[in-house]
Amino acid sequence: MIMRRTKIVATLGPATEGKNQIKSLEEAGVDAIRLNFSHGSHEEFSRLLPLVRSVAAEAGRPIALIADLQGPKIRVGEMPPAGIKLVRGQQVRVTPSRVIGSRDTIPIAYGGLAQIIEAGRRILLDDGRIILKVLEMRDGEAECRVISGGTLLSKKGVNFPGATVPEPSLTSKDRQDLEFALRAGVDYIALSYVRSAGDIDELRRLISHQTDRQVKIIAKIEKREAIREINSIVAAADAVMVARGDLGVEIAPERVPYWQKEIIHRATAQAKMVITATQMLESMINSPTPTRAEASDVANAVYDGTDAVMLSGETAVGKYPARAVATMHRIARTVEASISRASIIEGATGSVTKAISSAACELAANLNAAAIVTPTSSGHTALEVAKHRPQAPIVAISSGLDVVNQLALAWGVQPHLISPARDTDDMFSKAITAAGYSGFAAPGQVIVITAGVRVNVPGTTNLIKVQQMEE
Ligand code: PGA
Ligand code: MN
Repeated sequence: MIMRRTKIVATLGPATEGKNQIKSLEEAGVDAIRLNFSHGSHEEFSRLLPLVRSVAAEAGRPIALIADLQGPKIRVGEMPPAGIKLVRGQQVRVTPSRVIGSRDTIPIAYGGLAQIIEAGRRILLDDGRIILKVLEMRDGEAECRVISGGTLLSKKGVNFPGATVPEPSLTSKDRQDLEFALRAGVDYIALSYVRSAGDIDELRRLISHQTDRQVKIIAKIEKREAIREINSIVAAADAVMVARGDLGVEIAPERVPYWQKEIIHRATAQAKMVITATQMLESMINSPTPTRAEASDVANAVYDGTDAVMLSGETAVGKYPARAVATMHRIARTVEASISRASIIEGATGSVTKAISSAACELAANLNAAAIVTPTSSGHTALEVAKHRPQAPIVAISSGLDVVNQLALAWGVQPHLISPARDTDDMFSKAITAAGYSGFAAPGQVIVITAGVRVNVPGTTNLIKVQQMEE
């Protein structure tokens, strides 16, 4: 049996709101589902969540559920239904007032405009498709020239590259959405426009006040401040997202590939998961096949070692959601087959778990093991093993349902739910059973198992066993 190491995240939307559509995403290979709280209502999500869970249960494999909070995103106010065409060279006034937009006025739903923009700065609208240059500020409004034109619709995103927006990272909408998402039982909370590790700490505090579950946090890297603080953000979060949509507006698009590699590298070095997102197969919103450049983009993210690749519009509003997932699956599988791994990376020191994980990968490589089986109560050991990107598939076994669902996002990990082990011997026997039904280890083949003497206690992995599967 061959598995795909790189995981696939799909965003739900109007194109994928029925059970059959979600089921076809699963059949095409989806590993995680993103609910985008920038769109959609609690009512819709209340309906979608159990659908995803039941599709996963019927398929007999975990699917991670991610609630993606909007964060302090600033948006264009109300424009006429057909939008307004802005022409290069024309002047236009940007105002915080709640007027309806016209050819010479663009409302932006943010009161603090005067504090964050000044003459000479640029305002980017609709993911940077429309560019304005601020000529002067007058009475809290910005007189601008259109540098790059286009048709502007209501609610499009606004970016002020380089400006520091003094907004809390969790808006009141985010707090309400968080409460809802935690009650609904999601596995991950993604936070948009993270600027510092403090944003993550605050979110973690809010989560711990509302639930005893270890809900994991994804920090979306899409601001210059986040790039500057990348190491501490990676350390504070459980996972990060290379959120190229906004990042490519906040910094120049040509700098995004460097940061994609850098963020993936730094996250992996700290055994944190990383998702590469946005426009990966953009043309498949309307077309059944990707462009060559898009196929290369997905392939390169796999070469970079990303844990997961993400689909947004392709599955939310596209004409070919399941085909987009299947396309990613094929690209990832093809690329992975051509990568020879067994790279034991540095960073094995500092804890027993780290040293055991690294040694397990080395043993597995030397013995050409069929699988590495890692019992894990928090998910940490599985991630420490995965960070070495071993050739052998990682079968993670846990009695924690949340952990099993969360590990669906992790590179190379196939998670399985087990009943709690009584002792180390019982854990080894559960590991052997899991290796068998994972399909990776055939009779006679060798597997490598990690374990802890104190079973079910996090942070106690201190054993390795090499086991031959019974003939
Ligand atoms: P978004 O985040 O789709 O929520 O904007 C991803 C990105 O910015 O790339
Ligand atoms: Mn974004």
